[in-house]
Amino acid sequence: MAKKKKITEKNLPDCKYIFVVGGVISGVGKGVTASSIGRILSDRGQRVTAIKIDPYINIDAGTMNPVEHGEVFVLDDGDECDQDMGNYERFLGIDLSRTNYMTTGRVYQSVIERERNLQYGGSCVQVVPHIPLEVIRRIEEARIKTKANVVIIEIGGTIGEYENILFLEAARMMKLKNPSSVFFVMVSYLPIPSNVGEMKTKPTQHAARTLNSSGIQPDIIVARSKMPLDEKRKEKISMFCNIAQDRVISAPDVESIYDIPINFEKEGLGDIICEVMGMTCSIVPNENSKKWAKFAKSAHTPKKELKIAVVGKYFNNGDFTFSDSYLSVIEAIKYSAYTCHVKPSLTWISSLDFEKDPKSVKKLSQFDGIIVPGGFGSRGIEGILMAVEYARINKIPYFGLCYGMQMMVIEYARNVLKLKDANTREVNPDSKNLVIDVMEDQKEKIEKKKMGGTMRLGAYPAKLKKGSVAGDAYGLDTISERHRHRYEVNNSYKDALEKAGLVFSGMSPDGMLCEIAELPTNVHPFYLGTQFHPEFSGRPLSPQPLFTAFIKACIKNKKK
Ligand code: GLN
Repeated sequence: MAKKKKITEKNLPDCKYIFVVGGVISGVGKGVTASSIGRILSDRGQRVTAIKIDPYINIDAGTMNPVEHGEVFVLDDGDECDQDMGNYERFLGIDLSRTNYMTTGRVYQSVIERERNLQYGGSCVQVVPHIPLEVIRRIEEARIKTKANVVIIEIGGTIGEYENILFLEAARMMKLKNPSSVFFVMVSYLPIPSNVGEMKTKPTQHAARTLNSSGIQPDIIVARSKMPLDEKRKEKISMFCNIAQDRVISAPDVESIYDIPINFEKEGLGDIICEVMGMTCSIVPNENSKKWAKFAKSAHTPKKELKIAVVGKYFNNGDFTFSDSYLSVIEAIKYSAYTCHVKPSLTWISSLDFEKDPKSVKKLSQFDGIIVPGGFGSRGIEGILMAVEYARINKIPYFGLCYGMQMMVIEYARNVLKLKDANTREVNPDSKNLVIDVMEDQKEKIEKKKMGGTMRLGAYPAKLKKGSVAGDAYGLDTISERHRHRYEVNNSYKDALEKAGLVFSGMSPDGMLCEIAELPTNVHPFYLGTQFHPEFSGRPLSPQPLFTAFIKACIKNKKK
């Protein structure tokens, strides 16, 4: 058999670029569509990478409120980005880097820096072409870095907005230069007004025309709707959007997003994309696609339900997006639950409720497990501490993620070490017992209000204690997980906490930073917190080990 030639930067494969744009309304699943197309193509043997373009001015997503904008996803290299980057990593099973993420802010920043460095050689620097050219340069940079032969680029926002027009212009310029390598998928939405009861194609027609006015013709239209599209709708879209009928793909609502790549294949999308792009792709089903199908099926099969309470402070907003703020947590729970053949049922509990009515903390007894996810600031903290204490005393499996680990340590210091005013500097800098304190290198940043992209961010290694809950769950001596925090366990309390029974089972390799805290299994069935965010490394085909250990403990707890 001929040996496969190693891909280096000098012999990069020819590349196809698939732009995914959204029409009609936002929130119809552009990110999942882009991820699913990536999954289909990687199952068919292509080397796929994905780029997210966000039209806002922010340099990254780190400074934005997750309740309004969704989760801030963190990459290995510490980039704080849009939650869609998490979808790409999960669907594609790859690690991405900051090269795969751009915002209007980043693009302008580069152009302005270059202008200040006289790199434009005296010419007038203009919005067009210099901004789109920088967008194209960044897409190329990502292609080269990832050595991909398919680059999927999702342009945020909706067609017709001012904000993303320059990104569409970049895409148009790429198509003009290389027509056989650049393709457009328009994800659209077909409403079914309740008074009419009929699926309407008009908004999609308008979206296609608006896209046309940017000089772009969609190659494929993914038509999202509540129901599958009938032939009549496909015919209409074909006629009025100037597109072959078989290139209109029906994408009805689904129970599990992981069915989408499978549904797309059923609709012929894989074959169509390969044909449209003139690429030879391996056929499906194959080993890869079967693995995915097996996982997707596992989402539907479990009968037994596991009741998990997620306790935090963001849940009182009464809007639709709060669960988006914890997207990776939700998905990581699912992967581990599915491998254990159970279905997670999450209940979002606002810790403010416990503060108002301390007795109500008892309602946690009906849950098989409790999670306290990451968070910032002082609101709702006392309520969270009540939940943490309740979980510890009543031996309910508890999993603390970042802030959830810091809360564990504060609760232990207050109620076991009897340091009644134990706290974190973030909440009460005047406390005499700051068991959680600011990291040394963060002090100046906070003082000078240098807050953007300055936390301890991204993947750092940790050494695990043999025989600990964490050590057994990972089965490794050293791990690497992603972080996003400014505060840490104060080492001057470490000995006292350990003597009182808390185990620091994960430490930074220099022994200076506590990365995991836990109680031994003879004391508590599962009581563990991580300074890092294990949820960012949960993948459908390789669930995160600590989430799996937590789920197993919840199952055991349920049986009791
Ligand atoms: N607010 C805490 C810190 O900055 C925890 C952060 C988090 O949960 N991501 O250290």
